[in-house]
Amino acid sequence: MRCPFCSHDESKVTDSRNATETNAVRRRRECLKCLKRFTTFETVDLTIQVHKRDGRYEDFQQDKLIKGLDAACRHTRISHEQVRAIAYKITADLMERQIKEISTTELGEVVMQHLQDLDTIAYIRFACVYRRFKDVNELRDALSNVDPKDDAEQFANSAKSPLQKF
Ligand SMILES: [Zn+2]
Repeated sequence: MRCPFCSHDESKVTDSRNATETNAVRRRRECLKCLKRFTTFETVDLTIQVHKRDGRYEDFQQDKLIKGLDAACRHTRISHEQVRAIAYKITADLMERQIKEISTTELGEVVMQHLQDLDTIAYIRFACVYRRFKDVNELRDALSNVDPKDDAEQFANSAKSPLQKF
């Protein structure tokens, strides 16, 4: 990366972070010659392939992930903003780990890990869609991951009127 001040060709990266919304990586660099600092935005190749159950591949689409999450989180305490934050986090994680290919099942598991800590209802809804439970035993297995204490707190919270929160 050429230094914009002295045109020297070598610089070192001092900080690097994903600007996920623009699919770019923001890097702080320091010129090895004049020691001045500058920022670059480098677009990354975000072609993660999702391997679907029917054997086909499709490009990973963050929008699609957001739609699926929104559906699972409807009428729960997870807001659309939280949904977007989860989706960005998942995308950033995949980019950071330089994942080039992920199966629908693996992606579903990642999403469920995020939902499990946040909201039981959303977690179960998502699990139902992604795992396509064959029978009630499979559903029971998934439910065994849910901490009953959290569940009770959640129902207690949802029973309160919104005014009581203030
Ligand atoms: Zn320089």
